[in-house]
Amino acid sequence: MSRYLKTGLVKMSELAEIAGNIATVRERIATACAKRSPELQSVCEQPRLVAVSKKKSLQHVLRAYEAGVENFGENYVQELVEKASCSEMENCPNIKFHFIGHLQKNKVSKLLSAGDRLFMIETIDSAPLAKHVNDAVAKRKVETPLNVMLQINTSGEDSKSGAEPDSCVTIAKFIIEECKQLNLKGLMTIGSWEQSTSDSDENKDFKLLSSLREKVCKELNLERKNVELSMGMSADYEDAIVQGSTNVRVGSFIFGARVPPPET
Ligand SMILES: *Cc1c(COP(=O)(O)O)cnc(C)c1O
Repeated sequence: MSRYLKTGLVKMSELAEIAGNIATVRERIATACAKRSPELQSVCEQPRLVAVSKKKSLQHVLRAYEAGVENFGENYVQELVEKASCSEMENCPNIKFHFIGHLQKNKVSKLLSAGDRLFMIETIDSAPLAKHVNDAVAKRKVETPLNVMLQINTSGEDSKSGAEPDSCVTIAKFIIEECKQLNLKGLMTIGSWEQSTSDSDENKDFKLLSSLREKVCKELNLERKNVELSMGMSADYEDAIVQGSTNVRVGSFIFGARVPPPET
């Protein structure tokens, strides 16, 4: 059995704090929403809270679900599939998983084996990957199209995945026109650490993602409310919401710090 499904390694102190942390995040989300410009307030709803449970146990997920969270983010295909297909899920009909890690083509069919528990892939970053996922979805039994987001490397850092900002419209158009098994829900970015920790009120990466949405909407004739923005993590979700995020991905603030990889 995978270590993520075992109970032995779980820190009880972390579990005890999950519900309180979620309550705090929800309050801060509401406060940040109230700080949005009137223009943004009229087009976006309360953002979806995605609790990022990567490298955290099944117990962490179940505890957060009890506290009302339904969306969970995972970075590793194997871990998502194990959590999504374990027997405890029968008692959690509303749990939805978001894949938020870098996706390799050779892992796509494994990822799709999570079935309709896989609510969204947020990290499509090229037309060939979109096409590959599209063709794999066509072969599966679930009939509805799969929700995807187009990940953009807004900070231009080599360490970050994502498509070039300049190719955003082209790839979005390709997904809409050529990938009938995919439902393009929006744009996603991580952004640089410098931007998320700077004192400035405006995060340039979030601003760029938001301007790319304007461009996509204008050139592809879409309504802004139908193109989501997935941006904001533990360190910067409040700023992201003020700048229009509709989907925040919060991990360590809810579940505690992740164990660093062993030193090599
Ligand atoms: C890990 C991760 C998160 C959550 O990060 P925290 O800082 O723990 O909130 C969000 N988005 C992506 C893409 C991630 O990989």
